Amino acid sequence: MTDDGERSTPGKGLVQGLAVTLKTMTKRSTTQQYPDVEPELPPRSRGVIALLEENCTVCMLCARECPDWCIYIDSHKEEVVVPGAARARQRNVLDKFDIDFSLCMYCGICIEVCPFDALHWTPEFEYAETDVLDLLHDKNRLGEWMRTVPPPPAHDVLGEPSKEEATAARKAAGPGAATAAKADVRRTSTPTAGRPNRAAHAKPEPPEQPQ
Ligand code: SF4
Ligand code: SF4
Repeated sequence: MTDDGERSTPGKGLVQGLAVTLKTMTKRSTTQQYPDVEPELPPRSRGVIALLEENCTVCMLCARECPDWCIYIDSHKEEVVVPGAARARQRNVLDKFDIDFSLCMYCGICIEVCPFDALHWTPEFEYAETDVLDLLHDKNRLGEWMRTVPPPPAHDVLGEPSKEEATAARKAAGPGAATAAKADVRRTSTPTAGRPNRAAHAKPEPPEQPQ
C-alpha cells in the first residue's frame, strides 16, 4: 500500500520482477572469467609504474612532486673523465629507487613530471601481496616492469612536426636548402618589404591653372 492509502494492483510487483528476470536471461552474460581468462585492458591502463633506470638522472622531481611521498631515491656522485676536457665531470649514480605501492594513489604525477621519460605506466596489475611490506618495489623490480610497457601511440599524421623532426628534416635537405630558406626570410623581412608603396599612395598633382 502506498503512503496516501492507495491500494496497488495485486501481483504487479511479481510481474515486474519476472519481466526483469526474462530481460536479463535473454541478454549475453558479461561475467569476466578472470583469472582463467585475462581481461583485455585499454593500453593506457594504470596498473603499475615501470622505471627505465638508464634515463634517470636523479633530478628528484618525481619524489618531490609525489603527493603521497612514496618514492624513495638515493644516489651518489661519480667523477667522469671526458677526453679533452679541462677537468673531470660529475654525474649522479642511482643507488636506490623504490616506490611503495601500498601508499601510491596512481595519480601519475611522477610520470608526468619526469623530464627524461624514465617512468612509464604499464597495464600489469597482478602484483598483489599477502604482506603489505612486499608492495615496496625496488629499482630492479620496477625495471622488470619495463617489458610490459606498451609501445607509444603513433604520431598524429596531421600534427605539427616536433622541433627535433624539423631539425632533422632541415639537415637531410642539405645546407643549400637551409641557405635558401634563410634568404627567403631575409627577403621578406627587408626594411622596405612591409612599407606602403609611396608612389601608389602619393597625393595627385593639382591640375594646372590657366595663365
Ligand atoms: S602515481 Fe602519484 S602517488 Fe603514485 S608514486 Fe607517482 S606521484 Fe606518487
Ligand atoms: S623525475 Fe625522472 S629523472 Fe628525475 S629522479 Fe624521477 S625518475 Fe629520475
